[in-house]
Amino acid sequence: MSSSVIDFIATEARFGARNYEPIGVVLSRGEGVWVWDTQGNRYLDCLSAYSAVSQGHCHPKILAAMVEQAHRLTLTSRAFHNDQLALFYEEIAALTGSHKVLPMNSGAEAVESAIKSVRKWGYEVKGVPDGQAEIIVCANNFHGRTLGVVGFSTDPETRGHFGPFAPGFKVIPFGDATALAGAITPNTVAFLVEPIQGEAGVVIPPAGYFTEVRELCTANNVMLVLDEIQTGLGRTGKLLAEQHEGIEADVTLLGKALSGGFYPVSAVLSNNDVLGTLRPGQHGSTFGGNPLACAVARAAMRVLVEEGMIENAARQGARFLEGLKDIRANTIREVRGRGLMLAVELHPEAGLARRYCEALQAKGILAKDTHEHTIRIAPPLVITSDQVDWALERFAAILTQDFS
Ligand SMILES: *Cc1c(COP(=O)(O)O)cnc(C)c1O
Repeated sequence: MSSSVIDFIATEARFGARNYEPIGVVLSRGEGVWVWDTQGNRYLDCLSAYSAVSQGHCHPKILAAMVEQAHRLTLTSRAFHNDQLALFYEEIAALTGSHKVLPMNSGAEAVESAIKSVRKWGYEVKGVPDGQAEIIVCANNFHGRTLGVVGFSTDPETRGHFGPFAPGFKVIPFGDATALAGAITPNTVAFLVEPIQGEAGVVIPPAGYFTEVRELCTANNVMLVLDEIQTGLGRTGKLLAEQHEGIEADVTLLGKALSGGFYPVSAVLSNNDVLGTLRPGQHGSTFGGNPLACAVARAAMRVLVEEGMIENAARQGARFLEGLKDIRANTIREVRGRGLMLAVELHPEAGLARRYCEALQAKGILAKDTHEHTIRIAPPLVITSDQVDWALERFAAILTQDFS
């Protein structure tokens, strides 16, 4: 006897903490851009687990690397060396041009690790008085869910009733270099920012912003920490989103697609002495840098490059964006995006984005609303032209309806 969809959803609701409100579909299988629910219905995945499944669901080469490694060795802890970590370091350094790597698991852990590292660098290299380090962040940021990170969120939902929070963070508007110039003090150790604000609704900063940011950080000896956990690894049509701006961060954070969705793998990458301040025993993680994670991440990076996914993201992203812009619908306020990181912002009178996502589900597309009026679109980077066109037909059909 097979369980019904209602059983799965009701059982989750009965036992689980209610910290999510999923769309009413129960998925049981995935392949490439497609996922199937327990009743056999097929959907085009336009969320890709918030960009973690950029390489497509169950990519055969990542799967093979994972299974092969799982048979040999999964976890040693960093108390001992393993024969995968060095290769992971070498390959991620070669891919990104970084000199030092700190492996962690979740994205939020990479953010936390970067905060610890730049503070330590501030005290030991820059000469900031102990306990006085300041980090500048942006309004409407999203950097994860740990206590340290939600403490400098500006979203009341994210931080409400979770305090008290750690001091040492200053919030400025995103996309405003003058605000950054005004916020920097001699105690500023870092500016932590997303190249494109993902969870805020795919907010792209004005042209030239990051050039100015880079100059300000360099002039004031402030570490530019780019959170590329969502924008990195091809999502925006370049390996790193910083390449659109022609700049280089001092510290780059990767996660999500670093494992192609198989396993949580994140990393702090640094091209100077920030990570060099960490000494044995001062930071760590039981699972960080484990051989299974390293084998999976190595395969995930390899297929991204070998199978041309980054170029495909640029090409199909342009096609998708153009197609969305061609949809004539009163419901649409703005369409924006870079590569395959796209969003449709609805007019507030058009009703909630959630209703449109539910209607898209009925047409075989899974997308996710963010902030009430925005539909975020981020399919796996392996999507083809035909699949983009197939999706566009369905978006056009739904966006020309009124769900207010
Ligand atoms: C998803 C995300 C994180 C947090 O990653 P987790 O793996 O969920 O902890 C941090 N920063 C950005 C920009 C993200 O998109």
